[in-house]
Order: sequence, then structure tokens, then C-alpha cells
Amino acid sequence: MSIKLPNMPKIQDLIRLYGLSAKQQLSQNFLLDLNITDKICRVAGGFNDCTVIEVGAGPGGLTRSLLNSGAKKVIAVEMDRRFIPALKMLEDASDGRLSVVMGDMKDVNEAEILKQFGAVPTDWDKPSKVKIIGNLPFNVGTHLMLKWIRQIKPREGLFEFGRVPMILMFQKELADRIIAPVSSHEYGRLAVMIQQECDSKVVYDLPGKVFVPPPKVDASVVYIEPKVKPIGDLKSKEYLEYVCRELFTQKRKTLGNAIKCLGNGAESLIEGIDPTKRPQNLTVEELVKISNRFNDWPHKKDIDMLSFRNDARWLRGEEKKLKKEQRVMESL
Ligand code: SAM
Repeated sequence: MSIKLPNMPKIQDLIRLYGLSAKQQLSQNFLLDLNITDKICRVAGGFNDCTVIEVGAGPGGLTRSLLNSGAKKVIAVEMDRRFIPALKMLEDASDGRLSVVMGDMKDVNEAEILKQFGAVPTDWDKPSKVKIIGNLPFNVGTHLMLKWIRQIKPREGLFEFGRVPMILMFQKELADRIIAPVSSHEYGRLAVMIQQECDSKVVYDLPGKVFVPPPKVDASVVYIEPKVKPIGDLKSKEYLEYVCRELFTQKRKTLGNAIKCLGNGAESLIEGIDPTKRPQNLTVEELVKISNRFNDWPHKKDIDMLSFRNDARWLRGEEKKLKKEQRVMESL
């Protein structure tokens, strides 16, 4: 299906008309070149006949490409009121295919808005007809991604509608950490937590200079889709997160030594796994196995207080790491 929008003023002209200068404190970096936003839509597998939630529509460049690529419905969520007139203009031209929702995506109930706009659930083993996409400030993107990842197992929120792909723009270094294969330098807790339940790939690398204004870092579009069947029969995501955190902070040790940090006699948790491996060389499957045994282990420390609620602290750590790397790169 190809339903093109009627001719519209250029995004650059709307930005001038409505005085939409980018707010640095909101990390607003716009994509104004429709060739680029069209390409994002193509490399993300297209949106034909899909219901799409676009998070952070801004002046609406990517929104136009989504509509032009045949989306049945685009629900554009934006928290900065200044963009509403430009987005409303697009809404009027969209023949009912665009609806603008004013709000902070962190507070939006995804299932509710999808139901409100008539999205149809798909069976778990079929590709979903709902997609979510966002060119967001990187820290907001990470926060939301973790919120959505937690909804997958119970099939709540977005995932009441099937295996909804999340197509998100991240700082390149973070994207590399999400898709990192086992034994690579970037492989760690983030990769394991996401890859246990999702297939993930980088579909497009964008140099910082294509954004307006240009950020100091490059970006990548990551495509993350829940697996039909996650890796291993994971008993507790919290314990997997805990085991990964403990093991990956001791990357230089062998597994035989690193595992001791989980408690006296923790060697029994790695039975059948090569103890001379480094934590970095453990597959997701092996980490799930260790985590499941830890879950059933009578001697484990009580780590209820260390559950996934630690996301905020963990994220701050991830951001700090990125900032440090950025400073190093800038000094080279
Ligand atoms: N999509 C546009 C583009 O590609 O040109 C704008 C991208 S700009 C990097 C990010 C947009 O997300 C801004 O318009 C900002 O106001 C919006 N935004 C930031 N945090 C948000 C949140 N929590 N919920 C909804 N929108 C948000």
C-alpha cells in the first residue's frame, strides 16, 4: 500500500515558522533530511499496514516517512508542546492516519493507546502488525527500552499485541553493547539481558553530522524484536541480572574463580561448564543455566533488594561509562 501525503511545507520552514529551535537540555537533535528518515523506514523492514507508535515525533520528519511508507496508523507521542502545531498540520493532512498524543512516554500506557486507536493483536509466533519507533534522547531511549523489555515475559503493555519490534536510535557505543556477540569486547550484562529474550541488530549507522544540531557522537538504529522462544527456560530475570553483574565485574578472572563471589560452594553452580572460560566467553544459554541453579540454591544470599529495581542505578553507570569513553575519544 502506498498512501502518500499531500505536498507539505518543508520541515525546515515549519521550524522557522513556529520558532522550534532545539532545546539542548532535552537533547533535541532533529532529522530533517527525508531521504534519511525514508531509509530508516526501509531498513527497519517497512511499516506497510502497521500501527506504529512513534515516540518523540518533534517537528515530524520521521513521522512523514512513516506515513509515506504506508503505515495504517501512526500514534505520535511528544512531550514538548511547541511541536504540537506542526504535528497537528501533519495530522490534518494525513486523512486520519496520524494521531498526536501529548505526553511523556515514560507515563503512557502503551496497551491503552493501542486499544484506543484500534490496533489488532497478533499471535506470538507471527510477525506483529504493531511497531514502536523513536529517535529519542539516548538516556530516555534506554530507560524506555528497559521498561519494555520487562513487559515481554508477562506479555504486558506493548506485548499484548504480539512480538512488537522496538526500533530505537542509540548512541553507537550503546548500540554495539546491545547487539554484542559472546566473547566480543562489548559483550556484557546489557547484551545478555536483551539477547536472552530478543533478537537484536543494528540496521543503520548515522554519523552525528546528519542531525540538526549535530551531537558529538554517532548514532545507530537498533531493531529489537522479542524471540518466539527465549533462550533457556529462565526462572528469574532478577537473578540472571544479578549473576551477570557479579560475573562481568570480574572479566579478567576465570569462571572457576569469579563464581566464588556468589558464596561458599558456588562452584556447584557451574558444573558441566568449562571453569577456565572467562565470564565474557559464557554464552547466554550458559548464563541462564548458572542463574537458574542460583535461583534453586539454598545458600544464595537474599538478593530481593537487589532486583531489577536497580535499573536506574545501572543506567546511570552505563551513562557514566559512555561519557567517560566519549571524553577519551574526544581527547584522541
Ligand atoms: N523524531 C524527531 C526527529 O527525528 O527529528 C525528533 C527527535 S529529537 C532527538 C527527540 C524528541 O523526543 C524531541 O522532540 C523531544 O521533545 C521528544 N521527547 C524527549 N523525551 C520524551 C519523552 N519522554 N516522551 C515523549 N517525547 C519525548
